[in-house]
Amino acid sequence: FLEGKRALVTGSTSGIGLSIARALRTEGAEIVLNGFGDAGEIAALCEELGASHSGADLTDVAQIEAMMAEAGGIDILVNNAGMQHVAPVEEFPVAKWDTIIALNLNAAFHTIRLAVPAMKQRGWGRIINTASAHSKVASPFKSAYNAAKHGLDGLTKTVALELAEHGVTANCISPGYVWTPLVENQIPDTMAARGLTREQVVNDVLLVKQATKKFVQPAEVGALAVFLCRDEAQNVTGANWSMDGGWTAE
Ligand code: NAD
Repeated sequence: FLEGKRALVTGSTSGIGLSIARALRTEGAEIVLNGFGDAGEIAALCEELGASHSGADLTDVAQIEAMMAEAGGIDILVNNAGMQHVAPVEEFPVAKWDTIIALNLNAAFHTIRLAVPAMKQRGWGRIINTASAHSKVASPFKSAYNAAKHGLDGLTKTVALELAEHGVTANCISPGYVWTPLVENQIPDTMAARGLTREQVVNDVLLVKQATKKFVQPAEVGALAVFLCRDEAQNVTGANWSMDGGWTAE
């Protein structure tokens, strides 16, 4: 049902973004990938998805502007690229704070402001922002990430209101812990910050609040993104959809 629609998914060379890109492609959308990685692996992904790829570093506004100009009119914009850093606030590296806010929050502002004119003109658009359970609640040692994701929720609601009469919806998807490289890579930092073993980090930190005691699978997030693109979801806007195994229900 997405034939003729063009979707840009940021941070789609890995993890959740790649799953969203695959799910949108399955429904017929033309895909523009973005993200870093091995050139051969990215070429294989482009081949698999019939996609183009932008290697833009989304912490750099000029590179975002170039990517958006090259991508042309985008019907479905998925702001998904993100990174994490785990450290006590008084030791939080200042450069990491700036990078996380730039990537996890500012980049979405820039892609949205550049994508909206064409969406308004066509009277149809979908903006889907991968936020997090950490857009609703906090955990210690993730000051930059929590601040950026809470900000992304506010940005999404604002854009939803501004575009409500233009056939354009804007929503957040807020997963709990999804089994991707981002989660796997933060285990050593959390072990160090809290003095725990790997098993303790998985069971007592990561899954402790996830009532289902299961990691979310990336394909589940892809399925929700597809739903948000459907006509049946035209009145779903300004929402922040949890997919967190019950974490934020408590
Ligand atoms: P990931 O590390 O597997 O993928 C991140 C993607 O972003 C990659 O494609 C990477 O190349 C790209 N990227 C990184 N820095 C970039 C930059 N400067 N410019 C452009 N692209 C860049 O991560 P993931 O787990 O799939 O996370 C994707 C999103 O989901 C993030 O916004 C993350 O905060 C969010 N999220 C993840 C989880 C989880 O448990 N994995 C939970 C909630 C929210």
